[in-house]
Amino acid sequence: MSDQCVFCGIVAGDLPSVRVAEDDTTYAFMDINPASEGHLLVVPKRHSRDLVDIEPDDLAAVTLAAQRIARTAVKEFGADGVNLLNCCGADAWQTVFHFHLHVIPRYADKSRERLAAPWQPGVPGDMDVIAALGHRLAAALD
Ligand code: AMP
Ligand code: ZN
Repeated sequence: MSDQCVFCGIVAGDLPSVRVAEDDTTYAFMDINPASEGHLLVVPKRHSRDLVDIEPDDLAAVTLAAQRIARTAVKEFGADGVNLLNCCGADAWQTVFHFHLHVIPRYADKSRERLAAPWQPGVPGDMDVIAALGHRLAAALD
């Protein structure tokens, strides 16, 4: 637990949240600046800063909880899809430094969401650069 951490405060019940679900290791609650109807967050109860820092068992538990909640959210809200999003690092849009997965229901009816794709899926990159980076990463993982 980190004294300065908003999400630790929420998990401890010291700060308010709209609770969605909870188990021994995870806590899910509604995002107060929703990107779409039903946008929520799933966090590990044990503090970890980000994707790099989190213990594998907490990551697994949070991911499985997010899947379970996403399935129900899609059904319950009549969503047409869902995004799971994690931001790791300030340059990757992380603003709260307690690991969390965003569960963002998506809708064909765009009046129910306020999102745009963060990259341009139809715009091809430089294949030489892509291959060089892929091979470099593969070698580093060996
Ligand atoms: P990120 O930018 O990935 O770190 O996302 C942090 C998210 O936490 C944002 O979507 C915020 O709207 C949300 N958030 C911040 N404070 C609270 C809070 N007290 N209760 C619920 N959601 C929060
Ligand atoms: Zn925390």
